[in-house]
Amino acid sequence: MSPMRFGGSSVREDVAVVIRETTVSVLTKQGDLEKEKEKEKPEEDRKLECPICFEAMKPPAATSCGHVFCNSCIRSYVSTKHICPTCSKHLTIKDITTLYL
Ligand SMILES: [Zn+2]
Ligand SMILES: [Zn+2]
Repeated sequence: MSPMRFGGSSVREDVAVVIRETTVSVLTKQGDLEKEKEKEKPEEDRKLECPICFEAMKPPAATSCGHVFCNSCIRSYVSTKHICPTCSKHLTIKDITTLYL
């Protein structure tokens, strides 16, 4: 058994280990990215939902602070509480603009 040959095979094993570890970490990163994409999807859908009734906004209405709700939800909310449900800014019915998309 020659020490040169032993050394050679040992280096090759080290390279193989490094490649395997790199592959595993790349695969893990891709898996995380795909998970984050899956997480983002429902949030995108939620943006189109009214934060008061969690239904699609038909029609939507915007407050003067820039938050969007169902026209009927935000009007009844503001007429009783006089604040924005999202940021608690003081609002009146006049601060609500119905959006016609
Ligand atoms: Zn609503
Ligand atoms: Zn607001």
